[in-house]
Amino acid sequence: MKICLDPGHGGYDSGAVGNGLQEKDITLEVCLDLKPMLEYNGITVVMTRAGDYAPGHLEGDLNGELQARVNIAEQNNVDLFVSVHINTGGGTGEEVLISGSGGSAETAANKVLPYLVQVGGWTNRGVKTQNVFVLRETSMPAILTESGFIDSAADSAKLKDPKSRQALAVAHAKGICDYFGIPHREGGNDVLEVAVLLFSKEDFWSGTDVAVKNGNCAIFVRSADHSVPKDTMSAKQLIVIGGPTTSHPNEVLLSGKTKYDTATAVGKYLG
Ligand SMILES: [Zn+2]
Repeated sequence: MKICLDPGHGGYDSGAVGNGLQEKDITLEVCLDLKPMLEYNGITVVMTRAGDYAPGHLEGDLNGELQARVNIAEQNNVDLFVSVHINTGGGTGEEVLISGSGGSAETAANKVLPYLVQVGGWTNRGVKTQNVFVLRETSMPAILTESGFIDSAADSAKLKDPKSRQALAVAHAKGICDYFGIPHREGGNDVLEVAVLLFSKEDFWSGTDVAVKNGNCAIFVRSADHSVPKDTMSAKQLIVIGGPTTSHPNEVLLSGKTKYDTATAVGKYLG
């Protein structure tokens, strides 16, 4: 069983914004939580992005990065594609989108939606058919979940609560396990084993090699103010590329005075 998890938006595209929240941050967090839960249940997971960037690093190229998401699913021959989104437009509750009714995607949508609704007392908006790029262009069954409305006061209050965001990840895991006929086991929602932290997006290519060496671990990029994303600090080991050092207790610092020194340090680490 293999699944492609697609955290909606990312990088140049924040997705929906409202009440101090950005869709791209919530979708990434839910998917990063969800990945180990699925793996714990024996499902192989590939992700279209594992940090705040556009898939394929096609910043600003909407069609290109949407196609990159589809390509990742196709190249990995996954059994199910799950795109995770947050809604906007003044409604409330949970809905799951599919590109056409009557297929396995509809079955998957009907497995996942009840858990999403149940987990936070959300309104059930049903399974809906919609013409969405990633649903239309993928050859495997594909669903797109819309969890709450970022511009609704009540929904955004739930989305702001880390516990309810994690509950959404658990709900996705239960529904996906149901779809595959796997009895869901709670677990796998512990902290990241290893994370890679880049000084800037320019370090991405060396970061990719370091992540691959560490079982394709998550890659994070420092914010413009060089602050460190929260999830990196909870990882068991943090590999920092391009400095400066963080306060992480188990840090591997691959950094030099110039970017060439940094590249040398990364080369040495990769062997
Ligand atoms: Zn979206």
